[in-house]
Order: sequence, then C-alpha cells, then structure tokens
Amino acid sequence: MNANATQKNQGETPPPGSGENTKSFSADVARLLDIVANALYTNHEVFLRELISNAADACDRLRYDSIGNPDLAKDNPDFRIHVFKDTSDRTLTVVDNGIGMNGEELADNLGTIAKSGTAALMKQMKEQGGGEGNLKLIGQFGVGFYAGFMVSHRIRVVSRKAGEKQAWLWESDGRSGYTVTKAGKEQAQWLDGERGTAIKLDLKDEACDFLIDDKIKLTVQMYSDHISVPIFLGTPHDTKHDQSEKLNTASALWMRPKSEIGAEQYTEFYRHLTGGFDEPLMTAHWKAEGKIEFTALLYIPTLRPWDLFDPSRRHFVKLYVRRVFISEDVNTLMYPWLRFVRGIIDSEDLPLNISRESLQFNPVVSKIRSAVAKRILSDLDKLSREDPPTFSSLWGQFGSVVKEGLYDAPELRAELLKVCRFFSTHDSGEKLTNLEDYVSRMKEGQENIYYITGESLAGLRNSPQLEGFRARGLEVLFLTDTIDDFWLQKVLDYDGKPFKSITKGNVNLDTFDTPGDKQDPAETEKSSDKEPETANIGALIVRLASLLQGKIQNVRKSQRLTNSPVCLVAADNSVDMHMERVLKIHQKYESNTKPVLEINAKHPLIIRIAQMAEKGENIEEAANLLLDQAFILQGEPLEDPGAFARRMSAIMLQGLKE
Ligand code: ADP
Ligand code: MG
Repeated sequence: MNANATQKNQGETPPPGSGENTKSFSADVARLLDIVANALYTNHEVFLRELISNAADACDRLRYDSIGNPDLAKDNPDFRIHVFKDTSDRTLTVVDNGIGMNGEELADNLGTIAKSGTAALMKQMKEQGGGEGNLKLIGQFGVGFYAGFMVSHRIRVVSRKAGEKQAWLWESDGRSGYTVTKAGKEQAQWLDGERGTAIKLDLKDEACDFLIDDKIKLTVQMYSDHISVPIFLGTPHDTKHDQSEKLNTASALWMRPKSEIGAEQYTEFYRHLTGGFDEPLMTAHWKAEGKIEFTALLYIPTLRPWDLFDPSRRHFVKLYVRRVFISEDVNTLMYPWLRFVRGIIDSEDLPLNISRESLQFNPVVSKIRSAVAKRILSDLDKLSREDPPTFSSLWGQFGSVVKEGLYDAPELRAELLKVCRFFSTHDSGEKLTNLEDYVSRMKEGQENIYYITGESLAGLRNSPQLEGFRARGLEVLFLTDTIDDFWLQKVLDYDGKPFKSITKGNVNLDTFDTPGDKQDPAETEKSSDKEPETANIGALIVRLASLLQGKIQNVRKSQRLTNSPVCLVAADNSVDMHMERVLKIHQKYESNTKPVLEINAKHPLIIRIAQMAEKGENIEEAANLLLDQAFILQGEPLEDPGAFARRMSAIMLQGLKE
C-alpha cells in the first residue's frame, strides 16, 4: 500500500482543501512541502526532533511570561512534553503545556514561512534548481514544523493559548492547504490541561516504525536528550510521571559538567539551537566565576549562516537567567562582529523580572559581552596554534566579520590583531600569515607593515605597485575584504610598526637594495648586451604632466615599479585607491582628488617616449595610452573607452606596418 492509498481511507472528516475555510499555503510553503514529502526519507526521524524542539521553545516562552504573570501557568506549573502513539488510528502525538497558539497565530506560524531562515532556504533552493543540492540545503537550514510531513499525510494541531479560553484546530494534508477552525470538545481533550499544543500525525506507511515505543524512545534519546523540559512516553492523562517513563535527562545541558557531556550531545544541542544539521566547528563551554557569574555554551558553525552580512548585524545567542530563557534579542549581549557565534549564555546575576528592553543597557550584560569576546578570541588564538587547518577554514568563513571588530572595538584591538590572518607575498599559494610572523620577517631598516587592498587575491598579486617591493624582498600583505579599507583608517600600527599602503603616497625604497634585476630574467636578457639607454626623464615628466593635466594630480618617477612602465597611486593626502572605489560603490562618493601617475624610468617604453619628447615629436597619443593602461591595471573603468580603442588601433597599425 502506498501513501496515497492510505490517504483515501481517512473517510470521516472532509479532506482539508475542500472546505470553505481552507486557506492555501503560500507558494513557498507549498514548494517546500513538496520537497519535504518526497525527498527526505533517509533520516526522516528528525521530524520528532523538530516537534519536540518547538514544544520546548513553547515551554520556555511561557516560563518567561509567567514570571510577570504567574496566573498563566498556575494550574499546571510543571512544564512537560508527552509523546505517544495510537496503533488503532496509526497516529503519533506530541503534546506540550507551553504557551500555545490562538487561531491567528496558528495561521501565521504554520501557514506561511514566517521564519526568515526558511525563506532564505527557499530562495537558495530556487537559485540552485532542483536535485541533490536541495537536500543539502534543507540539511543546512532545517525545515522545522513542516518536517512532520515527511512522515505524515495529515497533521492536526490543537492549541490553546495560555490565558485564553478558546482552543483551535489547524489541519492539513500538507498539499492542498490548511484549515483553522475552533476545536471541538473531543479535540480539546488532547491537550495537557488548559493550555499548550497537541500535534497529531497520521503516519504514512513508511513511517509506521513510530508506532513502536522503542523507536520513539531511541529517537528522543538520540536527538532530544538535551532538552531541559522533561519528555514522557505516554499521554498526559495516563502517565504516572515516574523516572521510567521519562525519556530524556531533562536538565539544562550547559549546567552539566563537561566531563559528562559527549560530543554527540553537544552537537545535538547545537542543532536544536540552529535548526540545522551541520556540525559545529568549535565548541566552547565554560563557567565564569568572580565578579560576574555566568555559564556559556557557544558554538562556531562550519558554514556561514545565510544572513551573516545582513545590515542588522544581529547575533543569535540566547540569554538565560538562572535556567530561564529570557530572550535572543538582547543586542548588547554579543559584539556584532561575533554574530556568527551560536549558543546560550546563562547569567547568575541578572534579575529575572527585568524587562527585555532594559536588558540592553544593563551593565552586567555588557560585562558578560566583554568577557565572552575575550574568551572566544583567546580560544581562536589557541585553535590557530593547535589546529591550523581548522582555524584556516574558520577564518575563511568568518575572518571578514571578525575584522569588523578592529573597527568597532578598540578595547579589544590587541586580542583581535593576534588572531587576524592575511595573505601576503611571503606565500605564493593560499597560506595565511599572522602579524607576529610578518614582523619577524621584516627586513633590516623596515619600519612599516606594507599592504595593498583590492578585490581579489589574483588581481593583487599582479599589481604593478608591488614590483619594487617584491624586488627588494619586502613583504606585502594582500587585503581583499571590504572591511579592510575601513579598519586600516582606525588601526594605525601593530606592535609599533605603522601599517602603510603601497598604493598611496610616495615611497622611498632607496635604503633597501635590489638584488640586481634577478627577479625578471626576461627583462635582463633584453637589456644586458646593449648599453643602457638614457633619456631625459625629468623633461618627460614635465611633458606628461601638462599633456595629462586635469586627469591626474602629477607625474613622478617610481620606486615601486620594476617591470611595468606605469602605475597609479593615491596622493599622500587623499583616499587610498581601492578605498575610493569601495566608497564610490557603497556611498556614491564622488572624489575630486586625482591619482598620481608613476613612471618606471628604466622601462624601455618610457625611455623611448622620453627620447621622442626630446626630439620634439608628438607624444600626446602615447601619454594617453600610458594613462589608460594604468587605469586598466587598476581595474578602473576608462573615462573614454572609445578614444582608447582608436589610439590603440592606430598604434597597432603602425606596429604592424613596420
Ligand atoms: P521555528 O521553530 O524555527 O520558529 P518551526 O517551523 O519549527 O520554526 O515553527 C514555526 C513556528 O510555529 C514557531 O516559531 C512557533 O511560533 C510556532 N510553533 C510551532 N510549534 C509550536 C508549539 N508546540 N507551541 C507553540 N508554538 C509553536
Ligand atoms: Mg522549530
């Protein structure tokens, strides 16, 4: 018998989708359900984890609300979850006595994809098209409540919100839509007392193993042991609530000693928090004692959360006070540049009955924030030494976010600079360096830490401005994140060594010797037999400056160049080259400063043009081509591409004639 056949047997109630009250799922939900129903059989038992996770959240929320309004939970003060099967109608039911939902909330929460995380999942799935990728994505995001339709062809949710009289019934076959109606007397009986939610799943044939108690038991133990609300096997009415029926440990995982928590339990808790299926890259669990007391269990995910660069920069660490969940919106609890960290912080010092809003300004909260940040940075530092590959992968995912801290948090600058990693000329591959190592490699007499910023590593490696530094063995850092241009405005030095851009201002590299022209054998070969050509470079500079007036600030002889004829650099007192482009993109910034054109006095092309100028020949075309070339190398759009093409063709024609 297949799932469709089973479905036809549900004769008594008219199928949802046919009644007048039927609402359709939003298009996204419909598509998600389609995928969920057909694609996820391999580990379909995770649906139970999702339902229990929601039930526990509902208990947490009511626990918090009842601090201010104790009447809400008075009649049934012990929060609990029940899971039971009924072999006669082939159903599995999960019941909680948490906060519950009214009719409107049922429609809002279970009819649309309210969760932005799931919406993002759908968006990505659309972008990727169907197939294998979808499964991976679902794994990464989790599908929450809708996972129930992996194992069920009809779900009924009865819910009564704490403090309200009416119980409501939400019902759906997961395909045609859903209905929300007032619950009848019989259905209200499904609830555990006067409030909460009961979710009854009509199991598909493929999922009938959930009609066996042992299967339920094992699944709960595997995925939900860490849930701090007790989970019982049996109905709320027939359970005696002795230890034998309790399926989980039911104490807050983070309060247990580390030695008693297995790696799997840590991972399951992480998944409960994130709704994902991935593994955390780093887990930090500690208790802070002293002036402020708190316990933290924090994780760094393997992959970037989809909203890492959302402008709100909000974090997702949950705040508890003495085991009571308070909020995950206390934005002062974590620095925005640690927003990729997931987990919980449980404070011993904060008052329980404090409003969520006033928590933002609470000094205990900001002390926790600072202690947590220090701890994470020191853990990252440790990881970088003990497990470099893991650290590198973490840095690849989150380094650009951490570096925002260099801009935001001067109080932690030293700690931050210690963990920062960069690409550099020291390694021709993708190996990262830290500043300490950079400093240890500095040349005698080198005072600055040189860097260049730009969009891509490959582009930066070919920058003409780099040539002179390379030739002299001076290491240059490659910075490719947008944030780099910004923090460098604020962080002026490391260990007393000033950061210096190689694309800005005049550089004097005279004090460092170039080991001949060894760095470019091709070039040496060409010029070695002949007498070195000479030309009046000073006069050329004056000519170029007047020909290119208005387009550049001035022209000068370069120490940066060895192989290329020209490059552009920012003037000393202006915004650096790449920074200017970033500003233009992000803030529609219009600059009025012009770059400086540097020329390579040893380059044959420059020498040739200088000779032409000396003879009084017209070098206007050549001058403009030189400048255009410099702009192209810089990745800048040309002001007049048409003119460039005309000049280029003319010169090519000449060259081809000869
Ligand atoms: P998430 O739990 O990540 O928000 P879900 O799809 O699991 O997403 O659940 C959607 C929403 O439905 C929840 O945010 C919650 O508001 C509501 N909900 C689900 N189950 C329950 C429940 N047992 N009690 C109260 N509300 C619930
Ligand atoms: Mg959920």
